[in-house]
Amino acid sequence: MAPVREGSALRIPELPFELAPRTSGDAPILSFGWPDRWFATLLLFNPDWRPRNWYVNLQEPLRRTPVGFDALDLKLDVIVDLDGSWRWKDEDELAEAIARGLLPERDRARLRAEGERAVRHIAEREPPFDRDWTTWRPDPAWPVPSLPEGWDRLPD
Ligand SMILES: [Mg+2]
Repeated sequence: MAPVREGSALRIPELPFELAPRTSGDAPILSFGWPDRWFATLLLFNPDWRPRNWYVNLQEPLRRTPVGFDALDLKLDVIVDLDGSWRWKDEDELAEAIARGLLPERDRARLRAEGERAVRHIAEREPPFDRDWTTWRPDPAWPVPSLPEGWDRLPD
């Protein structure tokens, strides 16, 4: 789900907004998330499974919910190319979120440190990045999962 107003996605939520389903298109994504880390590390593919790049999404640690997991996106991201070079993404969104008081100023340094930590995980091939995930493919026997009842309702 993502915040929208009048059918347009809001990069930074601003009242009033509605939540609407967001799809990621036809390109496969392999996502690694942890309950104690402030980021998820995604491997992005092209629709034909050629690997594109790593993508570090800075976010609050995953939280279990009755229907799965929630995480709050923290605006700043890192793009890590397959050759190991990397760059920040959406620094302007982080600055705007802090300026609007949606995120505390102290998050700026923390998020940068976490982003750099995530880049080191990939570069230094720390598990689970000690194998080549670019050749990973899902088992074709796996069923397409369906969303559980209540997935679109916020917890009380
Ligand atoms: Mg993000």
